[in-house]
Amino acid sequence: MPETSDNVNAPASTPRSVLVTGANRGIGRAIAERFVAAGDKVATIYRSGDLPDGVLGVKGDVRDTASVDAAFTEIEAAHGPVEVVVANAGITRDQLLMRMTDEDFAEVLDVNLTGSFRVVRRASKGMIRLRRGRIVFISSVVGLYGSPGQVNYAASKAALVGMARSITRELGGRGITANVVAPGFIDTDMTRALPEAQRQAYVDAIPLGRFAEPDEVAAAVEFLASDAARYVSGAVVPVDGGLGMGH
Ligand code: NDP
Repeated sequence: MPETSDNVNAPASTPRSVLVTGANRGIGRAIAERFVAAGDKVATIYRSGDLPDGVLGVKGDVRDTASVDAAFTEIEAAHGPVEVVVANAGITRDQLLMRMTDEDFAEVLDVNLTGSFRVVRRASKGMIRLRRGRIVFISSVVGLYGSPGQVNYAASKAALVGMARSITRELGGRGITANVVAPGFIDTDMTRALPEAQRQAYVDAIPLGRFAEPDEVAAAVEFLASDAARYVSGAVVPVDGGLGMGH
């Protein structure tokens, strides 16, 4: 039986210590901006580029455990234990199955899956001590829907569901939730790389008839991290304009 939490309704501290990986651009940037606007103390582990105002940046790479752990130490010294962690950093290396190299596969798994693991494993230490925490993984509609040319990416994103649900069973009794946001097609550098004809084909397949803005994903993340979502855990929340209905 899961351990029963004695502080299910413990209010989060204000402002909270929030960590979003890869907040220099795209969806991660929009998520960080939302938490800053809400008054939280926001930090990021990032590799390059510039950051939104109000975000504490620590250079790091989610492929490297020592780098992740060192970044956490620095962030926690400045902001206190991380209460909300958003595992957002991700990459694609698209290729048809028969041409996909071991490196294409391993690289994508290392960033999207193992990188997320490294980040939430480190975050869980402080959350367990606090008896409170919110973990949000940024997966993808592709994880459960499938996508030609994305065997590596889809596998990495589907695995995040198993990770979130296992964390829910392991740490749910400690006041920690773990959820997955599964975006569809969002207007970022990742999708701007698509050829126009392919982009139009995707738009035609999306019931809402358009790509989304990064902030529309950030809104779902903000909800899952909020007190209002305290009884939501192990969920997969689609933000995909209806593309993946029936997952
Ligand atoms: P972008 O390509 O715009 O940004 C990816 C971010 O991840 C960048 O900040 C990048 O840093 C960071 N990153 C990549 N590798 C590492 C690493 N090893 N260590 C630290 N940071 C790293 O992508 P999006 O904003 O579109 O995607 C964000 C997340 O959302 C990803 O997980 C993606 O798979 C997911 N997603 C995106 C969708 C879309 O339609 N755009 C749809 C569904 C899911 P740097 O700038 O230094 O490269």
